[in-house]
Amino acid sequence: MNAGRFAPSPSGDLHIGNLRTAVLAWLFSRSTGRGFLLRVEDLDRARTGAEARQLADLAALGLDWDGPVVHQSARLDLYAEAIDRLTAAGRTYECFCTRREIQQATEAPHGIPGAYPGTCRSLTADERAERQRSGRAPALRLRSDVTEFTVRDLLCGDFTGPVDDLVLRRGDGAPAYNLAVVVDDAAQGVDQVVRGDDLLASSPRQGYLATLLGLPVPTYAHVPLALNEQGQRLAKRDGAVTLADLAALGHSPSDVLATIARSLGLAGPGEMVMLAELLARFAPARLPREPWVVRPEPIMAEPQGISPGEQLRHR
Ligand code: GLU
Repeated sequence: MNAGRFAPSPSGDLHIGNLRTAVLAWLFSRSTGRGFLLRVEDLDRARTGAEARQLADLAALGLDWDGPVVHQSARLDLYAEAIDRLTAAGRTYECFCTRREIQQATEAPHGIPGAYPGTCRSLTADERAERQRSGRAPALRLRSDVTEFTVRDLLCGDFTGPVDDLVLRRGDGAPAYNLAVVVDDAAQGVDQVVRGDDLLASSPRQGYLATLLGLPVPTYAHVPLALNEQGQRLAKRDGAVTLADLAALGHSPSDVLATIARSLGLAGPGEMVMLAELLARFAPARLPREPWVVRPEPIMAEPQGISPGEQLRHR
């Protein structure tokens, strides 16, 4: 079955912006007759108890998902196998660069910002042996033969972005996020990826990697993020932004769902809605294309932006 998915990292509680992305992923997938899967991306940054709270919060909003929750930490063999295939095809090389060295190299006049400059790509055997003697554990990088790739995004159109020699396996041996996500989406039948638009820039790398592995490239929908009043990505320090924080202020999960629905133009001020109703109203073409500005509790004087609490109180 084709599916969509939500793939949180269990690094802490989901805030209202993450919850909104999850609701969107669910709406995109259910409105197109797809399955909806939950994948816990726990290759690093797992915090005790976070996963259970994340799942409970998603369920409290009314989201349902198909089959058991999948954990990346239980799928290391799959990632290793994909890396082995690329290595067998001559598509990988060891990289001994430190973060600092990469940063310095990309500050050079012809460097592409954020892209690996290829320092270790063509080391001679002697040079490699010398670096191996340094004792630093190498990362494994993809030997890419393109500099950009185009993916299809339902909200952003055709998106072309840089592809570099991305890391496949980190120096500490852990598979890299870009590799794991590509392997998992294909293995799970995910052909529609809905997630925050902070990951739009990663999608050309992931799409290219999928084609190298002979896997289908999913269709993407990168949705605008929630921001704080300063225009920064919403974070827990911005006030009452998790379901637990909002519950402590007297706002039920239904209240929060109503706030999210309103932010998406799917409900009127103060209107209470069920997910099933949102599904009937959902039309991707009408979704807001700008970030959602969330104002923290306590309510600030400035009227612009949408505060969950303010909106709930005026119901
Ligand atoms: N685990 C990633 C995150 O929580 C999302 C990855 C994805 O959706 O591709 O930011």
